[in-house]
Amino acid sequence: MNPDHNVDVLVIGGGIIGLAIGYYLRERHLCGVEIIEKESVLASHASAHNAGGISSAHLSQTNEMSLLAKESSRMYRELAKKDGFGFDFKINGTIVLLKDQRYTSLNEEGIAEFRERTRTKVELLSGSKVREIEPNVSVDEDDTALFYSEDAQGNSKKLAECFARSFAQKGIRLNSQTEVLGFETKDDVIQAVKTNNGIIRSKTVILAAGPWSGRIASMLGIKVPIEPIKGHLITSRRPNSKVLNSFILGENYYVLQTSEGDLVVGGGEDASGFDTSVIESRAAEAWEEGVSYVPVLRMLGQESASACLRPYASGGLPVIGESTRFRNLIFATGHFRSGFSLAPVTGKIIADLVVDQKTTMDVRPFSPRRFGA
Ligand SMILES: Cc1cc2nc3c(=O)[nH]c(=O)nc-3n(C[C@H](O)[C@H](O)[C@H](O)COP(=O)(O)OP(=O)(O)OC[C@H]3O[C@@H](n4cnc5c(N)ncnc54)[C@H](O)[C@@H]3O)c2cc1C
Repeated sequence: MNPDHNVDVLVIGGGIIGLAIGYYLRERHLCGVEIIEKESVLASHASAHNAGGISSAHLSQTNEMSLLAKESSRMYRELAKKDGFGFDFKINGTIVLLKDQRYTSLNEEGIAEFRERTRTKVELLSGSKVREIEPNVSVDEDDTALFYSEDAQGNSKKLAECFARSFAQKGIRLNSQTEVLGFETKDDVIQAVKTNNGIIRSKTVILAAGPWSGRIASMLGIKVPIEPIKGHLITSRRPNSKVLNSFILGENYYVLQTSEGDLVVGGGEDASGFDTSVIESRAAEAWEEGVSYVPVLRMLGQESASACLRPYASGGLPVIGESTRFRNLIFATGHFRSGFSLAPVTGKIIADLVVDQKTTMDVRPFSPRRFGA
């Protein structure tokens, strides 16, 4: 059989972003969609090893990011109600500890203005109020914290599996162990994508390859400054009771309890290329900070540590939108710390762009245009 074939839409990358795009294309009844993934297992990189935090708008975000986050968080609530979508979704809130005085300029007035503008539930908590909500979190009396009660948590790996299962019924093709090796182009059109499994001709190509997106764009002669930034997750020995309800966000690291009951300390940012080995000193630093927030971690001890790569686009904003160089290329990448949070809204935006050539969300700040791409 000739492995070369034609499709209508080809999505490069089977991480949580590529899979969400497949799902929302399917919701728009688009046929002829194929997702290709170089690994043998879908969502095997950061999309399987993240903290599962789903944040709504936060004071630390730009206005544009807040709008995306709000919409995605609304969409998550809808997704979690669908049959076959068991991905451990729960609304548990985020507590941002302000020990580091990151928000010294914050006052009740500023918070009220943000609350009003973004329609987000957020309140300033005293140290004793934090202890009331989270008795296992160590805070002093004069510490303060922000509480985003609408934030949620889910399991990214399980969501990826839900998306993949939903494709089987609707004929979206998933091809693993299929790696993009190059392109055939003519003028401003990508004519074919060359893979280790043959040549795929597609009317539209979506680049959703996470930290590898910059490398793939360079095969097209396009410069998109996306680099891999390593983050760590350190899991403790499992406690036999509930320790935390909320996602506890500290100065550099966070602590959360997963739906399986594991306590996890995560975070950190290291630019060390595509290497995913654990940096022992970084893991130790994360653990110590985690212990300072949730002292019971010390007693439990560490079970395992892992590291994964986030896609960081220069400037920090994701890259979502049509290429200015090739008229059948769309970018969906660079989600950095928020790829799980923003998967549904990204999927929907891309499906709108493919089907309607426009979207109701303002994606101008995320356009690849800013890199001349
Ligand atoms: C420690 C850690 C904690 C995190 N916590 C959170 C969190 O709480 N909330 C949140 O929202 N986000 C979080 N993130 C970020 C989130 O995990 C990422 O933003 C998200 O997974 C990016 O998804 P993606 O699909 O763009 O990329 P990826 O998951 O990297 O997927 C890209 C896929 O493209 C494939 N690919 C690459 N090159 C090719 C090629 N040539 N041909 C075919 N396929 C190719 C790769 O194999 C990969 O599977 C965290 C990240 C880390 C590291």
